[in-house]
Amino acid sequence: YAKERGKDDFQWYHPSIRTEHDEKLFMEKRLRLATEKKRFTLVYQPQINLRTKKVVGVEALIRWNDNELGPIAPSVFIALAEETGLVIPIGDWVLEEACKQAKAWCNEGDALRMGINISPLQFQRPDFVSKVKHILRKTQLDPTLLDLEITENDLLYSRKESFKTLERLKELGITISIDDFGTGYSSLSYLRKFPIDTLKIDQSFIQELVENSNDQAIVTSIIQLAHNMNLKVIAEGVETKDMVDFLNERQCDEMQGFLYSKPLPGNEVTMFINQVNPEDALE
Ligand code: C2E
Ligand code: MG
Ligand code: MG
Ligand code: MG
Repeated sequence: YAKERGKDDFQWYHPSIRTEHDEKLFMEKRLRLATEKKRFTLVYQPQINLRTKKVVGVEALIRWNDNELGPIAPSVFIALAEETGLVIPIGDWVLEEACKQAKAWCNEGDALRMGINISPLQFQRPDFVSKVKHILRKTQLDPTLLDLEITENDLLYSRKESFKTLERLKELGITISIDDFGTGYSSLSYLRKFPIDTLKIDQSFIQELVENSNDQAIVTSIIQLAHNMNLKVIAEGVETKDMVDFLNERQCDEMQGFLYSKPLPGNEVTMFINQVNPEDALE
């Protein structure tokens, strides 16, 4: 009887009659396998200081190209990884891989800051700080080159625990950025309570910056707010020279975006820094 049932199940899973639920289960299965076998790669998007026009750091961004599913966007599989808990081992891998890469660049003479996206689930784990410490020790990376990107929503979870975690990371010399700033559910009060270093203006405010006066007001205010609180500010998703001009006039500190560079494989980053004159892209 069980065998017959098994047969039915097999038919049910045939691609042609696969339902959305089954698609998700299949992706979860593939993601689990990819996690076990560490079948991910990282790409790195350069971050440019708007005043000096120099590359000062990169943001590590994960990529997954599955043998059967093809390339899956991080927004899709990171959400699934969060649902299933797989984001913990995946996040561990990202941390170690990115720190290794940053250390390798240091050894070549390029001390680039390494920005790493941290999922709320990772951040909330009691062993998060000790994991970061362990990876820093293992990779020998200077902690002041490590920048962890968290979101406003992370800080909502448990204010007391989040505060302690941030304090301990700061003690190590690590810097903290608030990613997608302006899109979360937090009140602004956390800005004066938590020890953070940088606000990353969400790309949704940058997209129509040149034509939308509301976005202009928001971006101008975020830059002022950051500077008045002695925080640094980075604009994400900068795609046109007009956007750069606007951000320059308001003294935004740094930017990243397709205008300057897409996220690049590790081996292309140093080549890029040493061959391309950033100013060419910005003139
Ligand atoms: P994010 O942290 O806000 O990363 C910025 C996203 O904007 C990246 O998308 C990047 O490729 C994209 N981007 C950069 N410049 C431009 C531009 O000029 N125009 C436009 N339209 N987009 C630009 P990506 O790589 O698809 O990642 C999406 C999100 O997935 C990230 O948003 C981040 O929240 C998450 N993610 C990526 N890698 C990781 C990771 O290693 N761990 C975790 N937990 N999340 C990650
Ligand atoms: Mg980010
Ligand atoms: Mg993010
Ligand atoms: Mg972002």
